[in-house]
Amino acid sequence: MTTPAATPAAATVASNPANATNPAAATDFSADALATRAIHAGQTPDPTTGAVVTPIYMTSTFKQDGVLGLRGGHDYSRSINPTRTSFDEQLAAVEGAKYALSFSSGLAAIDVLLRSTLRPGDNVLLGDDVYGGTYRLLSKVFVPWGVGLDVVDITDTAAVSAALESKDYKVIWVETPSNPLLNITDIAATAAVAHAHGVKVVVDNTFASPALQHPLDEGADAVVYSTTKYIGGHSDIVGGAIVVNDEETREKAAFLQNAAGAVPSPFDSWLEIRGLKTLDLRVRRHSANALKIAQWLESQPRDVVERVWYPGLESHPGHEIAARQMHGGFGGVVSVQLAAGAEAAKRFVDHTRLFTLAESLGGVESLIEVPAAMTHASVSGTTLQVPANLVRISVGIEGVDDLIADLDQALAAVSAQ
Ligand SMILES: *Cc1c(COP(=O)(O)O)cnc(C)c1O
Repeated sequence: MTTPAATPAAATVASNPANATNPAAATDFSADALATRAIHAGQTPDPTTGAVVTPIYMTSTFKQDGVLGLRGGHDYSRSINPTRTSFDEQLAAVEGAKYALSFSSGLAAIDVLLRSTLRPGDNVLLGDDVYGGTYRLLSKVFVPWGVGLDVVDITDTAAVSAALESKDYKVIWVETPSNPLLNITDIAATAAVAHAHGVKVVVDNTFASPALQHPLDEGADAVVYSTTKYIGGHSDIVGGAIVVNDEETREKAAFLQNAAGAVPSPFDSWLEIRGLKTLDLRVRRHSANALKIAQWLESQPRDVVERVWYPGLESHPGHEIAARQMHGGFGGVVSVQLAAGAEAAKRFVDHTRLFTLAESLGGVESLIEVPAAMTHASVSGTTLQVPANLVRISVGIEGVDDLIADLDQALAAVSAQ
């Protein structure tokens, strides 16, 4: 499947029915470039004042003109809020999709998509390298609820195919690039196999972001995001979203969102609108910086740097698929295994100055962590376990030479000890 760089297939984005009445949102939006959509979709100057930026509608409720005389469908902010609607329209347009629904966290979005899709007795086929929180939600909440869960090497289409022959599944859950080894799954090939068995494909597109990859165009049925990462982009909010084209999934998810209530605040939505406007610029810089850092790390002696994981490197097993499936870059996360082992990995992340030792990723500032001890500690001893000497780097948009100099001095400090 070829898609022009950073341009989703659908040029005109249908309005979310819930949004059609929103004074702050455009109804039909048409533009080719993702960067244009990111700035204009869902953003209409305020009709009363002309305010160019969507206001933060920090209100729980809305005045009714007579009983049920709602202004633009607005009754209560769990159900509908104009700032949230504005972000949902903007995100749908950036994705080239019909509908987006935003949530108070990535996991809240994942929970609502799964819970509105699955019933006890249904089975889920999960990649063996998914986000630990997704695995925890499925294995500790959905499995006791009666959902069957099987884990497979999702990058291996033959293994996926064999699993689908052996059992009835409702959903296949794909994360590409995955965390922290940046494994790459061929979305189109996986969707073809899944659809032949009547199984739906969900892609967690958090690592690529809509700036680089459009899973719906590749045949996926639904996309989820932790907008906490690249979409928010500034490490200042926790949020999530579901993006779909089909009305039935949107309706079920929107019903459960309102029924269960994990909605973002208007201020969260406003920060996400602000973040998404610059996504294209930021992700290009994240990707360019990450590629240079990955190449620099790979050029280090093997007795210092054992292995570098980055889909932009030809040495990465998923490089060819990533080059076809991702447009305009390979993302901002690089993982590296240190030859001196797990303790050296911990010392290394303790010696960087520009890279802050912290969980999470996708912000403008560079972060560094040891997954086995931090983000992935909860999957230790499971099929999702990661190497103990692995360091994950979320490359920010600082000057790349400064970042390389920082890694260089930290590696030297570790070697000296
Ligand atoms: C962070 C993350 C999540 C969870 O999102 P939260 O916003 O932290 O709830 C899900 N998937 C991926 C790939 C993530 O990186």
